[in-house]
Amino acid sequence: MISKLLIANRGEIAVRVIRTCKKLGIKTVAVYSDADQDSPHVKLADESVYVGEPSPSSSYLNIPNILEAIRKTKAEAVHPGYGFLSEKQEFAKALEKEGILFLGPTPESMELMGDKINSRIKMEAAGVPVVPGYNGQNQDPKNLEKEAQRIGYPLMIKATAGGGGKGMKRVYKPEEFHSSLESAQREAQKAFGDGTVFIEKYIETPRHIEVQVFGDKHGNVMHLFERECSIQRRHQKVIEESPAPNLPEKLRDEICQVAVKAAQSIHYIGAGTVEFILGKDGKFYFLEMNTRLQVEHPVTEYITGQDLVEWQIRVAEGKKLSELTQGKEITQNGHAIEARIYAEDPENNFLPSTGILEYIEFPDREFLRVDTGVETGSSITVFYDPMIAKMISWGKTREEAATRLRESIDSTVIFGPVTNTFYLSGILSHDEFKKGLTHTHFLEEQTIAFTPDREIQADAFSFAAAALSEKKKSSGIWEAVGPGGLW
Ligand code: ADP
Repeated sequence: MISKLLIANRGEIAVRVIRTCKKLGIKTVAVYSDADQDSPHVKLADESVYVGEPSPSSSYLNIPNILEAIRKTKAEAVHPGYGFLSEKQEFAKALEKEGILFLGPTPESMELMGDKINSRIKMEAAGVPVVPGYNGQNQDPKNLEKEAQRIGYPLMIKATAGGGGKGMKRVYKPEEFHSSLESAQREAQKAFGDGTVFIEKYIETPRHIEVQVFGDKHGNVMHLFERECSIQRRHQKVIEESPAPNLPEKLRDEICQVAVKAAQSIHYIGAGTVEFILGKDGKFYFLEMNTRLQVEHPVTEYITGQDLVEWQIRVAEGKKLSELTQGKEITQNGHAIEARIYAEDPENNFLPSTGILEYIEFPDREFLRVDTGVETGSSITVFYDPMIAKMISWGKTREEAATRLRESIDSTVIFGPVTNTFYLSGILSHDEFKKGLTHTHFLEEQTIAFTPDREIQADAFSFAAAALSEKKKSSGIWEAVGPGGLW
């Protein structure tokens, strides 16, 4: 049994892991950089260790410093969260050597799935459908062009080492091939230090459907249904939900079974996500497998009533999945939707916005979950992802969940950096979204009506100033604002 766990991460995911540890009576160790010494994850943990300067390579990606923190605190296990070291097999290997439990799969699974070409080859061999394409060694531009011709346009050039949509180019015409290839290679070299690419047929107006899978150390693998993550901007997820809307039952079942087959074929242990792309013709293809807990795991937790971090801990301790489900079948109950609140400016090409969160308040409601790693006074810095919070709602129906989420986002108060809250609210109020007619180009193609955050903040400041100057007479001002208006 694990009695002390170190979280090699920061922000909302560190806070979220600590929450489960508290429930299970497991002591927690936080790590922090200079930029995070007063962060909620540090305050909430039982112990905390400084691991370096703000830049991730000096702190949250600094394996020697994190190993030192583990030795110093005698933590027995490590949760890597997502991002940072979560998919770095060197880290998992280093922990293995020290006899520390890693809450993730084996280094071998991480290595295989971290390579987009090898994983494609492995999946194809296991009978999992992959997007038709070229994944050969020959990187000669002339050869790649010939392969592109064979596959047919439109197509996608992707970085083998890719992630987060980087090093990925859509090509519509043969004339564009070479310039797109160069730019994909350049981007991949810069982001991953590896310019190797592969080519895939481009699937038009597809949906992104992924399946949460779990494997135990006894060879059992199961799934916890699918999530739809088609609402994306520049290949980055913005809204996620479960179940996927308008998905025929038979197809849902088939996708989930294929995901289990994919995980079984590599003897997968722990939490993983198998991502698929679903074409309009109902055909679906393996995209990649993420060998960690995903940002959007709360929607799965909501509809299944399970705690996936608890599952990760128990699986690492050697428990069987059947013990975790207590022999009961896991079912999908109702509908859950998640929105990612970011410090970014939708009015200004979604430019990240930094600064101090002067005031932040989330509504406290039934069927609403807010996962955040900041509080009033925290700063959004250039060093890390500018996500402020994830807001997740549940409803008996999709409509109910969406309405709840929109109302909760509208009642969120954030002063300081510009945020995307009103943009998120605009998506949730969009007619096509409400009908569940989503695909990965939704945000590119649809006009999202929203009031810029800046204007709202300016108005709110005026109201606040007016209220202060009116002092006792001020109550009328708050009535004038009205319910659901300017909070
Ligand atoms: P990354 O690892 O960089 O996130 P993925 O391969 O997971 O890259 O793809 C990210 C997103 O890009 C997908 O969710 C999908 O929207 C789009 N995409 C990827 N491959 C294709 C394809 N072959 N055809 C159409 N869209 C694709």
